[in-house]
Order: sequence, then structure tokens, then C-alpha cells
Amino acid sequence: MPRKLDHCEDWHVEVYPKDRTYGCWILHDDKDYEDACEKIVEQVRRHVDDTTSVRIECKRKHVCGFCGSNWTEDSPDYNGGCCDEDEANNPTKENENEATQG
Ligand SMILES: [Zn+2]
Repeated sequence: MPRKLDHCEDWHVEVYPKDRTYGCWILHDDKDYEDACEKIVEQVRRHVDDTTSVRIECKRKHVCGFCGSNWTEDSPDYNGGCCDEDEANNPTKENENEATQG
């Protein structure tokens, strides 16, 4: 008799918004995605029977506020120089400037 069985729980359905039409992106930023998800939630509440809840979820990640690259550094201000704007916040560079300014 088996002691360890596969057992599924928390059954639910994930629904993703349509983000492309004919290969072109139609959702561009967080606000677009949130709005698209809100529309789906409204439609599910109106038209889908036998549900107990519907909620919006997303995965959060940190990106550079200038170029959108994934944030790879521990610093909240400098992402290792992913773009010129980020490089301007390089703390090493700032020290060099202070040194030259005397
Ligand atoms: Zn950047």
C-alpha cells in the first residue's frame, strides 16, 4: 500500500489577457495589463457560473527605471551600468568626481 500519494489541491483556472494581435503587442505597460485584467474580471463575474472568487495576480520583479533591464544589483540606486542613465549613478564614479572636485 503506497504511503506517499500525489494529491492536488487549490484547483483553479488561470486566465491571461490577450497581449498581442497579429504578432503586434497591444499591451505595453503595467497599467495596460492591469486594465486588461480588470476587464476580464468584470466579464467573469457577469458571465461565468459556479465560481467562488476571481482575483488578479502578477509576479513582481525589479527593473531599471530608465531602460527596463532586469535589476541585478543589491543597490537600490545603481544597477551595474545597464544604461548611460544608470551609469550616471555609479557610486564609484561619484567618488572620482568628488576627488577631482577636491
Ligand atoms: Zn538601465
